[in-house]
Amino acid sequence: MRKRHWPILICIALCAASAAQAAPLVELNASQRAYLQAHPTLPLCVDPDWWPFEIIDKHGRHAGIAAELIGIIAARTGLQIALQHTDSWEDSLRASQAGRCLALSFLNSTPDREQWLIFTAPLLSDPNVIITREEHPFVSDIASLRGKRIALPRGTAMAERVARDFPNLSIVFTDSEREALALVAERKVDMTLRSLIVAAHTIKAEGWFSLKISGQIPGYDNQLRMGVLKSEQTLREILDLGIASLSEAEHRQIVDRHVPIQMVTREVTDYTVVAWLGLVLAAVLATSLLWMSRLRSLNRQLRNQAETDALTGLPNRNALNASFELDVARAQRFCRPLSVILLDIDHFKAVNDDFGHLTGDKVLVECGQLIKAQLRTVDSVCRWGGEEFLVICQETTPEQAWQLAERLLLQVRGHTFPCPRQLTASAGVATVRAGDSAAGLVQRADEALYAAKHGGRDQVGLIGHCESYVN
Ligand code: GH3
Ligand code: MG
Ligand code: MG
Repeated sequence: MRKRHWPILICIALCAASAAQAAPLVELNASQRAYLQAHPTLPLCVDPDWWPFEIIDKHGRHAGIAAELIGIIAARTGLQIALQHTDSWEDSLRASQAGRCLALSFLNSTPDREQWLIFTAPLLSDPNVIITREEHPFVSDIASLRGKRIALPRGTAMAERVARDFPNLSIVFTDSEREALALVAERKVDMTLRSLIVAAHTIKAEGWFSLKISGQIPGYDNQLRMGVLKSEQTLREILDLGIASLSEAEHRQIVDRHVPIQMVTREVTDYTVVAWLGLVLAAVLATSLLWMSRLRSLNRQLRNQAETDALTGLPNRNALNASFELDVARAQRFCRPLSVILLDIDHFKAVNDDFGHLTGDKVLVECGQLIKAQLRTVDSVCRWGGEEFLVICQETTPEQAWQLAERLLLQVRGHTFPCPRQLTASAGVATVRAGDSAAGLVQRADEALYAAKHGGRDQVGLIGHCESYVN
């Protein structure tokens, strides 16, 4: 490429770049585009002394958080900002009311201002905090304070709101942010209510480390918007489109660049204490819960051990006692049939004697399983002692119990136990009668068993007349 072409190419590149920057990046509709053509520049009034939110710097330029946010909005919508120079925020408000600027840069919406302004969506949200001197106690409820003096910059939304919401406070008006904080630092007033961002910056910049953040008023957040003259609805629409295009990251970067400090407030400390207390309580609670659950589990184990027969794994006599007595009482009360079967292995002593105690044990285990397998879930079996098993049959007549007993004996007779001998068993059946106790019922079953043994074993015995509650 020839050397004389370079200036032309650079010129084309620069023109293209500036055209791209000027080109609106947000989508405008026909009436918004028409508005922009008719009003390409936006006369803007700002607060000349509200750092780090905004100032008019010594070169006469708008600078600070608001300036950067509005700069992005202008670039994206295609608006050209024409900064109107004023000496104070009050001056800016007057200029706006007089129509010398179509928009105000960065302000809260208040009923006063709504008389001549309409507002965009917030460009930034920032909590307002109560600033006092270090020795002042934490302010949990500003409405309960009596006779306290609060310094607030004149013409601000906060001054307007505090005057309305907290008549208990006496307001000392100041001409600037800095002056409000200075009055607190010099003990001339008790407190001020300022934006967290501004307070954090000013306290650090001025070295007023005797000041602290002592509280916050719920709902007193700064929702910093642009205020537009009521006549400029379309301008507000265009600005809102630009504001909507601002990303979270852009907000964060801009604020972080201007307020690079970390505030630690009493409130945060208080939360930390609460969090620690919470943790300790949670730990104590967790430990007691753990112990309680461990104790419960140990008790469960103990009860299981106490109520389970170690050899067969069946419930033992202890397990049965409480519920059995209740079963008998319920059957009598509601005239329901309840029967028991006492089953005893025949000549079991000989098994031990001939094949050893270990074989005898295995026979007992298998016999228990054999009986259990024959029962309905509502029935239960326990090892009554030695080689005797007691079966409790709910809702079972003597005839049905008899049949079940026969079936159990059949099972034993037909089963191959881990011993070389064919085994049999005998059973005694009894059904609950009026006035029976659990012990009396088992006593009768035992007598029936004795009768079966006496009758030649491998049979079911019954004692006397067998009454049933079933019709
Ligand atoms: P019957 O037909 O009259 O019932 O005669 P039996 O031999 O079965 O009855 P007996 O009461 O004379 O003997 C019961 C035996 O059961 C005696 C005892 O050593 C044995 N025994 C009791 N508990 C256990 C145990 O846990 N394991 C073993 N292996 N044997 C036991
Ligand atoms: Mg026996
Ligand atoms: Mg016996």
